[in-house]
Amino acid sequence: MSVFLYRQTILLYLDMQILTSISEATTCCNAWRQAGQSIALVPTMGYYHQGHESLMRFAREKADKVVVSLFVNPTQFAPGEDLAAYPRDIERDSAIVKELGVDALFIPEVDAMYTAAHETIVAVPGLSRPLCGISRPTHFQGVCTVVLKLFMILCPHMAVFGEKDRQQLAIIQRMVTDLNIPVKICGRPIVREDDGLALSSRNVYLSPEERVQAPEIYKGLCMAQNLVQKGERNAARIQSSVLEMWAQTLSLGRLDYLTIVDAASLVAQDNITDNTLMACAVRMGKARLIDNVLL
Ligand code: AMP
Repeated sequence: MSVFLYRQTILLYLDMQILTSISEATTCCNAWRQAGQSIALVPTMGYYHQGHESLMRFAREKADKVVVSLFVNPTQFAPGEDLAAYPRDIERDSAIVKELGVDALFIPEVDAMYTAAHETIVAVPGLSRPLCGISRPTHFQGVCTVVLKLFMILCPHMAVFGEKDRQQLAIIQRMVTDLNIPVKICGRPIVREDDGLALSSRNVYLSPEERVQAPEIYKGLCMAQNLVQKGERNAARIQSSVLEMWAQTLSLGRLDYLTIVDAASLVAQDNITDNTLMACAVRMGKARLIDNVLL
């Protein structure tokens, strides 16, 4: 965004702070803390939809001050992934967060977050290995590094994440516990389209034909839930039923993974217990869609 547009945005949103420098963001949050106000952070990469909005509304209910970070974090994209193409619309996003009563929108510059000398990496290797880690082996260390940086810059009392990225949520919770970071992590349910497709900024990549088929992903996961409700406990049988269904309904999709794991440890399960998660990633055209349900 040009300096001119930034100025205009700042004028338009006088009652919501737009923080672009790390030092002003720290100063702003420090002042709130010193005044005894609780702070909730919602980390995002922008291009907002109702999933993001549900996290912001929850944060608004729970804390005195809400800060939303908008940063398309380059370290969580591998070479060849969609970093350059990632959808962006700061004007629209600013209007949405203001409407929701957010107190500050933090939009740092890439060069400020990652100086030329930057080399520290935060990793939670065990939980980062399965599921999305198989095809995106460096993704979660990028996520952990940026989230810890945001925690250090903004010192929030709580941070809100979506359960759509359940592996990310488990990893962040592990990082916070392991490193004794004084931030409460809150997970919020997946927000879906009426036809069941989990909302994602990346859904804009879908062609009209792919968009028609994409809800079959969630339908498959719902079928697994139904099988469990009817008494099926064998993970392999449930998995093959879903795969058989998708073979019929999801011709435009290429399966990245479909797995049944313990929701906390993310270790593969042979049988369904009371904390079992079915999670998947499916590539459709330019999009890679993830989804999950508790079984
Ligand atoms: P992103 O901008 O994609 O990095 O997402 C920012 C936050 O919004 C993450 O905590 C996501 O898990 C969460 N989120 C994304 N999509 C949804 C959704 N459909 N429902 C709930 N939370 C979501």
